[in-house]
Amino acid sequence: MRDNVTIFPLDDVATTLANLRVSDCILPNQKSWNVPLLNSIFNEQIVEHIITTPLYPPVHDDRLVWKKESNDEYSVRSVYRLCMNELLDTSHFKVEGTWDLIWRLKVPPRVRNLIWRICRNCLPTRTRLCDKGVNCTVVCALCTVDEEDSVHLLFRCPGSRDIWSMWNVASAVSNIFDQYQNIKDIIFETLRYCHMKMQQCLVALFGAYGSKEMI
Ligand SMILES: [Zn+2]
Repeated sequence: MRDNVTIFPLDDVATTLANLRVSDCILPNQKSWNVPLLNSIFNEQIVEHIITTPLYPPVHDDRLVWKKESNDEYSVRSVYRLCMNELLDTSHFKVEGTWDLIWRLKVPPRVRNLIWRICRNCLPTRTRLCDKGVNCTVVCALCTVDEEDSVHLLFRCPGSRDIWSMWNVASAVSNIFDQYQNIKDIIFETLRYCHMKMQQCLVALFGAYGSKEMI
């Protein structure tokens, strides 16, 4: 801003806009928009948006703020949330399920991530690798008998059943197997209804697999 009510020369609009600050568009010491200046730079619709933005007298110092974070600091995380929740249509990414059951678990993040990957069928089991065109056997690497998919590897393989038995929850797990076939449903049902001991066993099982990179 150069004078009380000043209009920038328009011989170099690009340079003017590049150097323009919000404070340049406000009349000095008046807390009101410099409408003639705005009209000389922007079209009618943009000017309308600007002048309907209130200027609060108690605010004296201008600063950059990012309202999507409580501390006003810009973050990539908040931009991601903004895009996913407000700007983009992400309905086709959403998968039905009570995913909070996973994220609320008080376990190391890598275990939560592993359980989430299992539920989304992202684990590179041998069955899945073959489906993706990898030239390998589908036989389970642990028992060398049955096909290695997520359900077998984590719940039906004798090695996994030993872990369930160690925690004395094998019968409860069998009941869930009888009711559900989908790996996601089995895990959700286990987390939702089974007692804490079984949850701990589930987490221990996944933790063991994850840490040993057996899957
Ligand atoms: Zn097996």
